[in-house]
Amino acid sequence: MTTTTDTSVLAARFQETFDAAPDGVWQAPGRVNLIGEHTDYNEGFVLPFAIDKTAKVALRVRDDSAVRMLSTFGGHGLVETDLEGLEPGSGEGWSRYPLGVAWALKERGIDVPGFDLLLDSDVPSGAGLSSSHAIECAVISALNDLTGAGFAAEDLVLATQRAENVFVGAPTGIMDQSASLRGAKGHAVFLDCRDQHVELVPFDAEASGLVLLVIDTKVSHSHADGGYASRRASCELGAEILGVKALRDVGIEVLEEASGLLDETTLRRVRHVVTENDRVLQTVELLSSNGPASIGALLDASHVSMRDDFEISCAELDLAVDTSRANGAIGARMTGGGFGGSAIALTPVGQEQQVRDAVVRSFAEAGFTTPDIFTVTPAAGALRLA
Ligand code: ADP
Ligand code: MG
Repeated sequence: MTTTTDTSVLAARFQETFDAAPDGVWQAPGRVNLIGEHTDYNEGFVLPFAIDKTAKVALRVRDDSAVRMLSTFGGHGLVETDLEGLEPGSGEGWSRYPLGVAWALKERGIDVPGFDLLLDSDVPSGAGLSSSHAIECAVISALNDLTGAGFAAEDLVLATQRAENVFVGAPTGIMDQSASLRGAKGHAVFLDCRDQHVELVPFDAEASGLVLLVIDTKVSHSHADGGYASRRASCELGAEILGVKALRDVGIEVLEEASGLLDETTLRRVRHVVTENDRVLQTVELLSSNGPASIGALLDASHVSMRDDFEISCAELDLAVDTSRANGAIGARMTGGGFGGSAIALTPVGQEQQVRDAVVRSFAEAGFTTPDIFTVTPAAGALRLA
């Protein structure tokens, strides 16, 4: 699955495939959310970072409206289609992501020509690292440059959201593409999902002698979609009863009062969102003042809140988190939407191997699928390579 091809090799493969040189090569990263889960659609705060795993695209615009696309990822053949008459819902598989952002730019009045595209991504697919947004952000960056549209990153974030929501039909927020388009090396992206305000927060784990391990449990439980919808509904209900536009507007000091107004389940859902927003703010403050080694307890508290109040964890994620903590990680939590996907464990460099071995062993003993474990570092957002 992982392919790290350098720019000139990718350009050469493009030449072989399409019989012409690409106009350029662009890359955009996947992302990991450090903290702030299920706060985005409550107009709250998130703190993702762009990772050192990227989707690279070599792209050449055409003088007609045809589109030809190939991924180096095994099992995908050449996709041939046309931008003429492109409508939401059209396209299949991964081709929906490049087509979706082309459609979103057209919707904004940009005259998008056809193109030839070669994709090479080492962002693991379906692991909760947003491989789909990495593709979209790489392609929209390329088209933004080559058409002369010149949109700022904030606009590209919204166009990419239109592509996902309307063209692909996935009800996602703005976190993933904000991290991918606006991330920076050694930093996390503090994003206010209400007004899209971004602040880069120093997060250089390596300099603090820490590594951030991602533990991909490789499971995706079937109730994930229903679980997501029902959590969203609970949040909306809570906001309505409390008389606010979104749970973002509920302060932690109001929680006690709220307890008399909400049924037991809704109270716990609301409590997760309200305390999680507060944890994001605390994490931002601590990262700026004391550095990455000081945020472990907040990561732990975030996991407990998702496990007990929001109830979106699962046995595999809990085992990954508990085993990491018991073997030297200074903080760990599930990350992403829940019901499977990945956990993260902030770990002293010297403990890394022990955590890895212990997690693999505990999964084997529990009869779970062997997890994929790898490190990520906060890396640059989308950029043009050539
Ligand atoms: P996530 O974004 O969390 O990784 P998604 O289900 O949103 O999960 O996106 C995964 C999809 O992205 C895959 O089903 C595939 O269509 C596409 N994809 C990811 N990586 C590649 C790749 N290297 N080549 C082609 N398609 C890819
Ligand atoms: Mg995705």
